[in-house]
Amino acid sequence: MEIAGKIIAKDSFSQLSLDVARLPSRTKIDIPIFVRRAPEVGPTLLLMAGLHGDEINGIEIVRQILEQNCCDPLTGTVICIPIINIYGFLNFSRAVPDGKDVNRSFPGSRQGSLASRVAYHLMNEVIPAIDYGIDFHTGGASRTNYPQVRCVLKDKDNTYLAKAFNAPFTINAPLIPKSLRHAAAKLGKKILVYEGGESLRFDKVAIQHGVAGVKRLMGQLGMIQSKTPKRIENLIINKRRWVRAKNAGLFHASVHNGQQVHKGQELGFLSDPFGEFRTGIVAPNAGYIIGLNNNPVVNRGDALLHLGQLVGV
Ligand SMILES: [Zn+2]
Repeated sequence: MEIAGKIIAKDSFSQLSLDVARLPSRTKIDIPIFVRRAPEVGPTLLLMAGLHGDEINGIEIVRQILEQNCCDPLTGTVICIPIINIYGFLNFSRAVPDGKDVNRSFPGSRQGSLASRVAYHLMNEVIPAIDYGIDFHTGGASRTNYPQVRCVLKDKDNTYLAKAFNAPFTINAPLIPKSLRHAAAKLGKKILVYEGGESLRFDKVAIQHGVAGVKRLMGQLGMIQSKTPKRIENLIINKRRWVRAKNAGLFHASVHNGQQVHKGQELGFLSDPFGEFRTGIVAPNAGYIIGLNNNPVVNRGDALLHLGQLVGV
């Protein structure tokens, strides 16, 4: 097996790095990669985070997996990349310093700008070696996502992996052009996205669900034999919509993330800062709150609550 230009022997632990580009100060920035390969053949699983550099819950999930013995597989190989977008991580930013989103830059180019180069090296030096992957994310800006796996429900491998991971929600999410998931799918590699919590905040529940999901998935793939975490109720969402602000003002939520709501239920209200108006926000359909905006100051059209509908409803 070859990863980042190095041959990885069976029954070994290797620390590698992707050499993408230097900082303007000439400092070399490497992307650390940790590979644990079992003596027995088996699947190769990629656990990666920080494609958006400010999404720290995923970084913590991969860190905990690295710290715990569960990433020593009995069969197959685990590749852990805790922080892909080191540049964004250093700047507390989703993007790379020129503002480009790495997850809209795949498959990338060796001669391209920074985001495109990060994508290129990942696609060419790591992805060819994998069978499956989990790409850990959080909500962007000040939005928080209830722990959820996003995948293509009509893809049997995707649903098998999502079922094994067993997050509170599994959400049908078509492939987005130029995303990692899309580029990897073209090579026949199955990558799921896990979303939990918000950027630049630790969310203990989202981290726990992420770590437990990885253990369940590794157990299902026969990579670990130790007792895997208990299964939880998993709800399958096939339709989702954002409930948006009809006025600018202050947003007050009256539901919590993950909550089941019925059609017409008041989800919160918008007010001005002066006590002169108050407008209720009602659920346009029944479903579950799968994402919530935590920033109370909103403009007209801003996303407030992400509402998911169950399959078949
Ligand atoms: Zn993200």
